[in-house]
Amino acid sequence: MNTADFLNNFREGALSATALTQACLARAKAAAPLNALLHVSTEAALARATELDAKRQAGGSLGALAGVPIAIKDALCTLDAPTTAASKILTRDGKTYATGWRPPYDATVVKRLRDADALLIGKANMDEFAMGSSNENSAFGPVKNPWDLTRTPGGSSGGSAAAVAARTVPAALGSDTGGSIRQPASHCGVVGVKPSYGRVSRYGLIAFASSLDQVGPLTSDVDGAARVLEVIAGADPLDATCVDAPAGNYVRACQVDLPKLRVGVPQQYFAAGLDDSVRHAVEKVIDHYRSHGAEIVSVSLPHTDYGVSTYYLIATAEASSNLSRFDGVRFGLRVEDGDLTSLYEKSRGLGFGAEVKRRIMLGTYALSAGFYDAYYRKAQQVRTLIREDFDRAFTQVDLLVTPSSPTPAFRLGEKVQDPLQMYLADIYTLPASLAGICGLSLPAGFVETDGAQLPIGVQLLAPHFAEERLFTAAAHWERTAALAHLAPPGFGA
Ligand code: GLN
Repeated sequence: MNTADFLNNFREGALSATALTQACLARAKAAAPLNALLHVSTEAALARATELDAKRQAGGSLGALAGVPIAIKDALCTLDAPTTAASKILTRDGKTYATGWRPPYDATVVKRLRDADALLIGKANMDEFAMGSSNENSAFGPVKNPWDLTRTPGGSSGGSAAAVAARTVPAALGSDTGGSIRQPASHCGVVGVKPSYGRVSRYGLIAFASSLDQVGPLTSDVDGAARVLEVIAGADPLDATCVDAPAGNYVRACQVDLPKLRVGVPQQYFAAGLDDSVRHAVEKVIDHYRSHGAEIVSVSLPHTDYGVSTYYLIATAEASSNLSRFDGVRFGLRVEDGDLTSLYEKSRGLGFGAEVKRRIMLGTYALSAGFYDAYYRKAQQVRTLIREDFDRAFTQVDLLVTPSSPTPAFRLGEKVQDPLQMYLADIYTLPASLAGICGLSLPAGFVETDGAQLPIGVQLLAPHFAEERLFTAAAHWERTAALAHLAPPGFGA
């Protein structure tokens, strides 16, 4: 069942919220070996379901996501469950999730889901502090890809993507700084939307790189993503970077017919390093738009090659500053041993994982006196060039179609020893993040590899705040390709 099925079954009284929640909890249990969820809110979810059933019976007005079970990436603050960003530093004992930090408030997006009568089922696993592309950087163990248990689900929102792919929940929230919604969505065969920067509140999202971070949905179909985004988007007085503009009508955008589109195909996204299976799947989507009246235009985004280095300077610089608050004093792990300096050193030394430490060091170096101009300032200048590439392209076309990721899901362990290879998993998603524009990944097709069917994602990109355009184009392909109902073997229906 997808998001609308849950909603309709509950609204029409075919299934109670309690029954829906129980089914979902049973599925979470069956899917436990995937390690997609760090926490299942059994009691809180059932209590909420009882309230919702009473409300429906009393004829109360039901919210836009009434009866829809949703998982929340553990980077988002939740009042009724620990919040750790999958880091030991946000646990009291330096080990277990259950001793995780308890935020005194809900993130704005979480509060909006609750207000819309969604059922919050649990917290999703992720790469520590959202740094990673495979979920192998979680302090609580990697997540397995439900299509092939020997492969990663992608990252950093890998738990959210795997939970949706395994049909534990029809929808989840993730966060995307450089691809962390779109890349795992593509590797797990689900839909993922990175909204335009400023579209969704970041209040209560544990910050990784504040000028890039955005919260967005991962869902089993395009309509579900539209429904969730409509609820979470829009101005928030608690986040000054969240733009004061109402959310669009994304659900309606999914239903309208395809307008006459100019579709851009950026040359640089089809160059060396792209797996043939991905190229073919994405070309099929481009052919689809062509055969439905779109004009296909080859465009150039000349600064694409600088995306990875620019991102890894800016994101690490911002992370080194954002993560300085985790020092053993106020949050989570506190290793007391001697003076204040050794409290900092021991707490941070034990609390952070290797990748997080690497990034703090890279970022601190890039910002340090004498290197700032050569690295951070230069990266900001190149970021402007990358944004201008997109500005120019969008004077020629309405939409860009690209691969979401250069390969299908890779194997667990395949890239852990080679951070550069891991960073390259995001070459097609990073530039849009640097530009601040919106992007959506959805299934383009499948490839058979070593006996497993692996999903391949296509990425659609549109200008700032043109999310409606993404939804219209994505829903059109989804209707034709009819891939949305496909679930991994053993996780069906
Ligand atoms: N994989 C990228 C990184 O490791 C992007 C992560 C993200 O979007 N949070 O930084």
